[in-house]
Amino acid sequence: MQITFKVYRKDPEGNGKPGRSEYTVDLSDDATVMDGLLKIRDELDGTLAFRASCLRGYCGECTMRISGKSTFACTAKVSAFTKKGPEIALDPIRNIPVIKDLVFDWDAFLWNKIKAVKPWLEPREGPANEEHRLPDAVMKDLRQVMSCYYCGLCDEGCTVLPVDFDFLGPAALTKAYRVAFDPRDRDGKERLRIAEQPKGVWDCVHCFEASEHCPRGIAPTERIVALRDKAFQMGISHEKVARHHQSFAASVKESGWVDEGRLAVESEGLTNIKGLMKLLPTAAKALVRGKAPLPYVHSKRPGADRIKKIFEKGERERK
Ligand code: SF4
Repeated sequence: MQITFKVYRKDPEGNGKPGRSEYTVDLSDDATVMDGLLKIRDELDGTLAFRASCLRGYCGECTMRISGKSTFACTAKVSAFTKKGPEIALDPIRNIPVIKDLVFDWDAFLWNKIKAVKPWLEPREGPANEEHRLPDAVMKDLRQVMSCYYCGLCDEGCTVLPVDFDFLGPAALTKAYRVAFDPRDRDGKERLRIAEQPKGVWDCVHCFEASEHCPRGIAPTERIVALRDKAFQMGISHEKVARHHQSFAASVKESGWVDEGRLAVESEGLTNIKGLMKLLPTAAKALVRGKAPLPYVHSKRPGADRIKKIFEKGERERK
């Protein structure tokens, strides 16, 4: 079948402006998008740049957007993208500096962030012949995380990275989980401390897009939640996070729902004048749009008394 690929082009040695080139190639019915790219490069245009390595869907090198869907070119069948016509658009994944054509900056996108969480085990010190056996359940969980392809699809789907590229992102935080939850590591706390710094786990908005995008079922969003919980339980969350949790729980306990104005004020800290001043521009904008919740002016929801009893029961059981 004749397929036309409309490929994103960017030449760093040219005028630097992105464009698109069209190539029509003849492919078999079971061809993959990577088959098409290799044919274009070998027969039509040797200047087209893209990455490829294993050609079996293991390495994640050929991650790209194929007619708007982010996936691996080596496993994506052309026939899956040509139901409406024999044309396929190829683009680099989003929110990332492009080096040339479909080749993007993996260092900026992934590797620098993964290195930042120190994703290696530092064995505990002990007798030279000490065995480091883990229970099956722990190993099973860690193995799943270790099966990561480093494909970056979770970061590609992340809804925070488009607005804040400095966010560590789900791929790197999943690596932090791998070490923080491995009892053999000398100091899992260190990864928790790194992960819970600004631009870390607390910047995740729980949209679950990362988990939706992961081809390995690693559930990066759930790993981020687990890191948060562990950091909180171990008492190594920074003070603002602790205040946020306490305020959230207190307002739900008292009124059955969240007092957002109170939450903003108490998260900053009632005596933190500088932090409170920083809230003013946002509060003013919200006020103009009629969306500013006044703190502490918060009616009870129906059923609030029952919610309060649930809190009290939990508090009693925790003692
Ligand atoms: S966690 Fe999943 S989506 Fe993210 S890099 Fe690893 S395999 Fe890819």
